[in-house]
Amino acid sequence: MRAYERFLNYISFDTQSDEKSTTFPSTAKQLRLAEHLRDELKAIGAEDATLDENGYVYATIPASPGSEGKPGFALIAHMDTALELPGANIKPQIIEYKGGDIVLNEKLGITTKLSDFPDLEESIGEHLIVTDGTTLLGADDKAGIAEIMTAAEQLLSDTTLKHPKIVIVFTPDEEIGRGVDKIDMSKITVPVGFTADGGKVGELEWETFNASRVAVTIHGISVHPGYAKGKMRNALLVAMEYNMLLPQHEIPFCTENREGFYHLAEFNGTIETAVLSYMLRDHDAKKLKEREEMMEKAASFIKNKYGEDAIEISITEMYRNMGEEVSKHPELIKAASNAMESLGIKADIQPVRGGTDGSRLSFMGLPCPNICTGGHNGHSRHEYVSIESMDKCTEILIRIAAKLA
Ligand SMILES: [Zn+2]
Repeated sequence: MRAYERFLNYISFDTQSDEKSTTFPSTAKQLRLAEHLRDELKAIGAEDATLDENGYVYATIPASPGSEGKPGFALIAHMDTALELPGANIKPQIIEYKGGDIVLNEKLGITTKLSDFPDLEESIGEHLIVTDGTTLLGADDKAGIAEIMTAAEQLLSDTTLKHPKIVIVFTPDEEIGRGVDKIDMSKITVPVGFTADGGKVGELEWETFNASRVAVTIHGISVHPGYAKGKMRNALLVAMEYNMLLPQHEIPFCTENREGFYHLAEFNGTIETAVLSYMLRDHDAKKLKEREEMMEKAASFIKNKYGEDAIEISITEMYRNMGEEVSKHPELIKAASNAMESLGIKADIQPVRGGTDGSRLSFMGLPCPNICTGGHNGHSRHEYVSIESMDKCTEILIRIAAKLA
């Protein structure tokens, strides 16, 4: 079976996660796909295929004869889909792409424009799987799952393929940042891994942002507005003033490559209380620290101006740049880039402007770079993946296995 055939099956499962949920996994519907994947792993002959009570699927591909002494590696992908768009009733369309814009939905007037998504140019001549414009596609990350499953099937059935032990892990709830919260590291009996959760063919990522979340709470004083002179402290206005104290150009809209940012992600409030929720990001841990200090300094300014009780700030670490850990395993990056080169694909190594499950796994003892799945425009109705790129990504995984055998 080819990867895209599996993919079309997997996206028929609605596996959207839910950040408001307190259960694990956050939505029970993810378990339906998890059960299916466990059964499929059993059917293709993987060993110890299990689904645990937290919704994680694990399985092992034993080493091919002669490679039993090699350390092996893990392949990891996530089952849930993003929250920005519906993840149910996906109606994929397969088109032979000849260039230009793609009309996703004539009736609703939804078009994927080449001018907005110039990467499309690279897919001319390929068969693209696109949405009908009303949902996301789910290539993030079901393309990764389909490629791992297809690579696994080939490694298990073709005895000429050399490979070390491979542990397969499918996780829930990555999109809401809980993807490795309940992962059972004792089941991952290999020292390193790859997450298959990247974008276009050739992408190989081993550096991520360092990330913190900062909650800023402003306490106001509410008084009848007609009689408020000298008395009212409007939390909304103070909150806006607070935001203006931060570097105004260091925001996602104005930054790229290795530039970090302050991102105001949520702003709620009344005159009495306002809450600002920020995401701080930087590839450089020292610079992230400086951003945190900048936010503290701005809070001190507000305190001096309006009183000690006017503002509270709390900073939480989210994840760290996995480059710190992955750089200790140059053999992983070498295997992946050699595997790509052997297929005529140039490895495109870029720092991720985000995090992956790998950024946390790398600090839990499983250094984990991220590798391409062929998917484009994740979290969007314009998401697409080509059948041909899914085949290539599958082949990359098989060749990485050979390099590490
Ligand atoms: Zn993803």
